[in-house]
Amino acid sequence: FLPRLVASLEQVDQTYIMIKPDGVQRGLVGEIISRFERKGFKLTGLKMFQCPAELAEEHYKDLSAKPFYPKLIDYITSGPVVCMAWEGVGVVASARKLIGSTDPLQAEPGTIRGDLAVQTGRNVIHGSDSPENGKREIALWFKEGELCEWTPAQAPWLRE
Ligand code: GDP
Ligand code: MG
Repeated sequence: FLPRLVASLEQVDQTYIMIKPDGVQRGLVGEIISRFERKGFKLTGLKMFQCPAELAEEHYKDLSAKPFYPKLIDYITSGPVVCMAWEGVGVVASARKLIGSTDPLQAEPGTIRGDLAVQTGRNVIHGSDSPENGKREIALWFKEGELCEWTPAQAPWLRE
């Protein structure tokens, strides 16, 4: 029973993933979603959304003193985004690895930004940077009733 106990103690996290307006305009939605799906994480929320400035400002409030902040808000509100909630053990850190460095020129090939983007100001995707922020951001972007609790049929084939 010990391994079972250890497994049950492994914490299931949530992360907020968002395909930014450039990712939508460039037709990368399917490509990006499939990378998370293939990895084996569970999708619990998905919607397309035209983000109002107030929400973009709240989401990025920690960066409000940065010189690029006004441009960042313009960018995020420049067209529809795709909002996603993903769940799994280690999903926050793993998603950041799949996404790659903030600057796409520094991002490793094989990562989303490394493969699909060239500039920090157009880096196609957002991912939460901690489990706490994952929860905060999902609560910020999704309303009650928009998230789905479900058990994927592949669950026993992903984790022993
Ligand atoms: P992330 O967590 O990797 O997305 O990076 P940060 O939290 O540091 O920054 C949030 C977002 O702000 C980035 O993904 C970029 O879209 C944008 N950003 C960060 N640094 C810069 C910058 O130096 N210039 C511009 N134009 N945008 C930036
Ligand atoms: Mg960040």
